[in-house]
Amino acid sequence: QQKTMEKIVALCKGRGFVFPGSEIYGGLANSWDYGPLGVEMKNNVKRAWMKKFVQENRYNVGLDSAILMNSEVWKASGHVATFNDPLIDCKACKMRHRADKLVEDFNAENNITDVNVESMTSEDLVNYINEKGVVCSGCGKHDFTDIRKFNLMFKTHQGVTEESSNEVYLRPETAQGIFVNFPAIQRTTRRKIPFGVCQVGKSFRNEITPGNFIFRIREFEQMELEFFCEPGTDLEWFAYWRAYCHDWLKGLNVSDENLRLRDHDAEELSFYSKATTDFEYRFPFGWGELWGIADRTDYDLTQHMEHSGKDLSYFDQEKNQRYTPYVIEPSLGADRMTLALLVEAYDEEVVDEAKNDVRTVMRFHPAIAPFKVAVLPLSKKLGEKAMEIQDMLSKDWMVDYDETGSIGKRYRREDEIGTPYCVTVDFQTVGNEEKGEVADHCVTVRDRDTMEQVRMPISELRSYLAEKLAY
Ligand code: ATP
Repeated sequence: QQKTMEKIVALCKGRGFVFPGSEIYGGLANSWDYGPLGVEMKNNVKRAWMKKFVQENRYNVGLDSAILMNSEVWKASGHVATFNDPLIDCKACKMRHRADKLVEDFNAENNITDVNVESMTSEDLVNYINEKGVVCSGCGKHDFTDIRKFNLMFKTHQGVTEESSNEVYLRPETAQGIFVNFPAIQRTTRRKIPFGVCQVGKSFRNEITPGNFIFRIREFEQMELEFFCEPGTDLEWFAYWRAYCHDWLKGLNVSDENLRLRDHDAEELSFYSKATTDFEYRFPFGWGELWGIADRTDYDLTQHMEHSGKDLSYFDQEKNQRYTPYVIEPSLGADRMTLALLVEAYDEEVVDEAKNDVRTVMRFHPAIAPFKVAVLPLSKKLGEKAMEIQDMLSKDWMVDYDETGSIGKRYRREDEIGTPYCVTVDFQTVGNEEKGEVADHCVTVRDRDTMEQVRMPISELRSYLAEKLAY
């Protein structure tokens, strides 16, 4: 039994987590729609993040800034000038490649580990490709065009005319919305440094090589924190957030064996960054960046001060001193996180070897599971009572209801979508006056992971589940 992307994608499509986008029109490459279960799950991911980073954290507040921003923002942030990928085409088969990716793949295949591709310029890449005789992965030939830069931002127009003066970009990250609101948030919340601002929202990147299901897509959601602190305290705060992020993942049952915290060495660091750690997750297709945490120094605020002419510095009253805050940025993709949790949860458990009986179980943390409970009447005749229980429980949780097929099949269906508890209503629950059987007003609760069942009064159900499902 293996976790493969094929199995996980098939489950997602088959059960309504994620569908290919625009499917009835033949799709739109690498676009995905979250179905009824997927939307619950991704919302749970975002909620769990907001809970940990805003509700439970004394330093942080929330923000929801606009996707479309004044284009000057993207000049200041450097995205207009430098948010590029180096593109190269194969002259023979016309296949388009990201030059850096081509080199990375070549190095991986040839066990070359001492070359830092991220710090290579376009020129370095061309030279390397020619020197090593790197070939096209499509046709195996070594015959490439020159490298050209391709900006990853989606551009559109605001208003009725398509002039360059009203060009706007779809934001490629949520972070800039936080930086430009820094003074307003500081003023209105009367926060003192250190404090942070959290934002969840869509970002858009015209990725050249999207793929691996929802790992790399062109329209995705980010969950970003920009944490503002006094210069000189930044490395301490970097360590604090690095540990805090790790803690959140552990709390959602992301196992350490599938997680690796990779600190960038001096050579790999961006010029403005003092420290960066990539949290990498072991996806079925290999290790991939999940969460990037960076000490961005005062780079962003300084850039915005220069471009806007506005003062974004902070006056520390206690110290009677003015400074530009340093920023620690943990940046996580909601879709990538959702994918990591799908991979982490996927399990095929041998229930009975002799009968070759294997069940597929999504072992989601209860906070992540789309449905927390399923109510299953043993017979359709028990539907009224079962729905009454569903109505009661759905005040607190997403509750599934299923009355078709054998009870065993229904348990398996719930296992497959990771529902932590099934509540079964049987004839004893309601009794039968004609036959003189008294109702016991009890239901059976089955645990997804242990498959153990306990019988309990309906009146105790809610508090039992509340304790089990607490997050
Ligand atoms: P990569 O190297 O994978 O392109 P990046 O270093 O450009 O990522 P950041 O700009 O640091 O990524 O973005 C922060 C986070 O946003 C990433 O760690 C990832 O979780 C998420 N993310 C970035 N690009 C995408 C994408 N195209 N699809 C889904 N999630 C993304």
